[in-house]
Amino acid sequence: MDPLDALREAGRIAAKVRDNTIKEIEPGIKIVDICDVVNRRVAEQGAKMAFPTNVDINHVAAHYCSPINDKTVIPEKSLVKLDIGVHVDGYIADTAVTKCFDSEYEYLVEAAKAGLDAAIQTIRPGIKANVIGSAIENAINGKGARPISNLTGHKLARYVVHCPGYSIPNVGGFGSHTIQEGDVYAIEPFAVPRSANGQVTDGPPSNIYLMQKKRNVKGRAKIMMKFIQSEYKTLPFASRWVLRKFKGSEGEAAFKELLKSKVVTSYPQLLERTRGMVAQAEHSVIVTEDGCEVTTV
Ligand code: MN
Ligand code: MN
Repeated sequence: MDPLDALREAGRIAAKVRDNTIKEIEPGIKIVDICDVVNRRVAEQGAKMAFPTNVDINHVAAHYCSPINDKTVIPEKSLVKLDIGVHVDGYIADTAVTKCFDSEYEYLVEAAKAGLDAAIQTIRPGIKANVIGSAIENAINGKGARPISNLTGHKLARYVVHCPGYSIPNVGGFGSHTIQEGDVYAIEPFAVPRSANGQVTDGPPSNIYLMQKKRNVKGRAKIMMKFIQSEYKTLPFASRWVLRKFKGSEGEAAFKELLKSKVVTSYPQLLERTRGMVAQAEHSVIVTEDGCEVTTV
């Protein structure tokens, strides 16, 4: 498939699954069921997950993903981020929305959206990434909120979710690289109350993993390593996905072995430092001659 067509197809599917799923999220629903329904819908559309679905509650900004048999439910009065990644033949769409169950925080949802809109209006070939960061920061400030300064948008490449060195900051003053026509970026502003610190810090391990390096492990662990390598390549994956293929205590032992020998490593959850409530909005875009095409509308 032509790369542009694959990007558009991934975007169309990610947007459809995002919109169908966010509608159904309510307090009391199990997070693992949300993660699983996203997987099912993406598969039904003939695409694959580019990373495990993140369902992040309140001050958790990123990287909460259900472990196998997760009992956690959506709390009352919460701020819920749903972040979905889809790929078609390695071409990725990354998109997120926030649903608010406490009207006190609705302005944060609006602020994150305003930041994203401003970035989409600003991005074009020839400008530096920090110009987009300033536009995001101004839009979020204009809604009475504050951006998270140490989370950024990121350049996407085939089978790569985060291209190192090519981020889209959510504040001014960072990002000296120049945007080029044909680049593909995920833009993702995060908004917190003014009273919050506006930075994230590492929390507990998530259930999101990345294959680090092929190593000399034996038996079940070796079979599992080969499965992970062929199935997920350079993309993040959920422990839940692997442990459903390799069931029971044998599977758990093999996964522990891969972690211990650093064949796989986990991402930490990212928490707002002062436990401020966090809203997020995210689209993926292809940079065009005079602006951008949003793939995840
Ligand atoms: Mn995302
Ligand atoms: Mn992203």
